[in-house]
Amino acid sequence: MSDYQVFIGLEIHIHLKTQTKMFCSCPAHFGDEPNSNVCPVCMGWPGVLPRLNAHALELGYKVARALNCKLSHKSLFARKNYFYPDMPKNYQISQFQDPIGGPGLLEIPLSLGGTKSVRIRECHLEEDAGKMIHAGDISLIDYNRAGYPLLEMVTEPDLCTGEEAEDFIRYFQRLVRYLEVSDGNMEEGSLRCDANISLNLKGKGLGSKVEVKNLNSSRFVKLSLNYEAKRQEEVLSAGGSISQETRLWNENRDCTLVMRSKESSHDYRYFPEPDLPPFCPSPDFLAALEKGAVELPLTRRNRLLSDYGLAEQQAEAIHETREGVDYFEEAVSKALESAPSVFKGMQEAGAIIAAWMTGDVKKELNRGGISISQSPMTSARLASLAALQAGGKINSKLAKQLISDVFSLNKDPQAIIKEKGLEQLGGREAVEPLVASALSANAALVPAILSGDVKKKEFILGRVMAESRGKADPALAREILEEKLAQVAKAQVASTTGESSS
Ligand code: ADP
Ligand code: ZN
Ligand code: MG
Repeated sequence: MSDYQVFIGLEIHIHLKTQTKMFCSCPAHFGDEPNSNVCPVCMGWPGVLPRLNAHALELGYKVARALNCKLSHKSLFARKNYFYPDMPKNYQISQFQDPIGGPGLLEIPLSLGGTKSVRIRECHLEEDAGKMIHAGDISLIDYNRAGYPLLEMVTEPDLCTGEEAEDFIRYFQRLVRYLEVSDGNMEEGSLRCDANISLNLKGKGLGSKVEVKNLNSSRFVKLSLNYEAKRQEEVLSAGGSISQETRLWNENRDCTLVMRSKESSHDYRYFPEPDLPPFCPSPDFLAALEKGAVELPLTRRNRLLSDYGLAEQQAEAIHETREGVDYFEEAVSKALESAPSVFKGMQEAGAIIAAWMTGDVKKELNRGGISISQSPMTSARLASLAALQAGGKINSKLAKQLISDVFSLNKDPQAIIKEKGLEQLGGREAVEPLVASALSANAALVPAILSGDVKKKEFILGRVMAESRGKADPALAREILEEKLAQVAKAQVASTTGESSS
């Protein structure tokens, strides 16, 4: 056991999904010709005035609310001054005092099991800088990204391991996707994370911290923090001290390297942005925020476990996207609605649908490279398949076949059954003659079966299924076979005791 305690705090930026930039009407759009989405405002020409993007405010407050932050009723903008070519104004409009969200709390699921509550310090809005590309001796700048709306959230140093930090990021990513405020894509830079870490002897409070940058995947966050924890422990236990600095993760060498000594907030000479009034959300704005609130991923996962009785792994897979869990709940409710008497309850319908969603349906989606909402398997179609199977109209083998047919033919399962003549021979009248003829064709096997040869009995059942071209209800066929065998056995007993001969 180590004598040291690890403190990790994250600063996460997300791009907000708006049509236009934060303070001008340039399109907030990537992949366009470099420097084509620019105007005097985002290029910082003298005399221009910023205008707040109302949609960015809405999306920002959505996130703050989901993080259980205290929402600001008077939120201020500030200038953060720095001189670097990616920011043509020489300051970034950000928030310092009175950001949109104050202290909050987020409960996250841990990959080791259980959950952890992490305190949120604040979240604020700001604008992104341009993108610099360094190529040998020259540097290129694309200002399309300058002025793109960002939300930054800052946690308290409540996380303790690289794994927990990774869990936090992955959950936050899922959260912003559920809220539909951001793509949350780390590789593409629409979610960016800086990680802060310090160590100290247990009970001594926070240590002197290092900030790690250049983390473009959640795995790098984990690796770099675990690397830093080890490095700092070695320095400290050798009697050294940690200098406050910014380090970069080097993914080729799997280590962090010093970038610069740490700047502090007074280096930025923050002052109130004189060209923007405070934002004071109206009662209507706040009411709309409440109305538009969605259930958080963790809450939905817990409901999949408790209400639908799903296994952990199934719940995990189904709630990975909001689209997936919406689809699941829709399919279950449609199944129950269309065939209320067929299911024993919500859990039975849920079990069938979850098994398909994580099995055959998922395979088809992967094969086609499509998401479930774009697929021919609508929730109504899956619901109707579930009802057919639960009601004994189709067996599980036929259900599998039908799932693949729905994908290839893009038709309702009922229509496919009709067209292909696939109705299960459900009725006793249909199955009985098949059992009788299989038995008489294989009469020689009966004595062995009666003395307990299970294989030969299964052979007869196999004949029945083959004869019906797979359409007989196997459970019913078995039941009828057992009845017939019992009759034969009884007749034999009767004939040997001579009861029936008189
Ligand atoms: P700075 O002034 O360097 O930006 P902040 O106090 O604003 O530092 O905190 C930035 C982030 O660093 C937050 O996520 C916070 O939780 C984390 N943090 C602050 N102090 C420490 C520390 N001593 N050890 C680990 N993390 C810390
Ligand atoms: Zn612009
Ligand atoms: Mg700070």
